[in-house]
Amino acid sequence: MTTDGGEEYAADRVVAASWKDASYLRDIDVGVIDRESKAFVHVEEGGRTDVDGVYAAGRIADEPHQTVVCAGHGAKAGLAVVHDSGANYYRDWVTPDGYFTERGIDLPPATEELNEEKRRACDEESREVIREYVGEPLDEKPTMHPSLADEDGE
Ligand SMILES: Cc1cc2nc3c(=O)[nH]c(=O)nc-3n(C[C@H](O)[C@H](O)[C@H](O)COP(=O)(O)OP(=O)(O)OC[C@H]3O[C@@H](n4cnc5c(N)ncnc54)[C@H](O)[C@@H]3O)c2cc1C
Repeated sequence: MTTDGGEEYAADRVVAASWKDASYLRDIDVGVIDRESKAFVHVEEGGRTDVDGVYAAGRIADEPHQTVVCAGHGAKAGLAVVHDSGANYYRDWVTPDGYFTERGIDLPPATEELNEEKRRACDEESREVIREYVGEPLDEKPTMHPSLADEDGE
């Protein structure tokens, strides 16, 4: 795979999540659906396309336009990638201390119980990460509709 910037990458699995213009995927017969001025990718469960190892998520996969829906679809595609890779272990979710073990249940694979100290450390780390993204105003201009952007000469 070669990026617009000319960097080359080799990967067993690729997720396309670039909004609703799938025209750049035509060459690999991924199953592009043209509708009005848009080009979507036909996907099955988990964002799987007609090509093994190529997934599509969000608007490009014809999901409804709400941000949270597209993000959720991306998460489902991520799970499909992990599943299809055959990985036998990955860290999936955390629970409060004793959630399983105090009920006499063995800890399921990919699960971790957090004691209070570790829970607070994770809480702090999460808030740090969120602050990094939303702590300052976004300087970038919002994306306008292409027809309006053209009128502005941009
Ligand atoms: C003006 C406007 C207002 C909206 N308001 C709301 C709202 O209030 N609430 C709401 O829920 N939704 C809103 N939406 C819809 C929402 O923003 C989108 O549906 C959602 O962001 C789609 O998510 P996505 O991940 O599929 O695509 P995007 O969020 O568009 O992400 C695609 C990413 O791919 C990148 N990309 C594209 N092509 C390439 C390429 N060739 N190589 C590398 N990267 C590439 C883009 O730069 C972008 O970062 C609005 C949309 C618009 C345009």
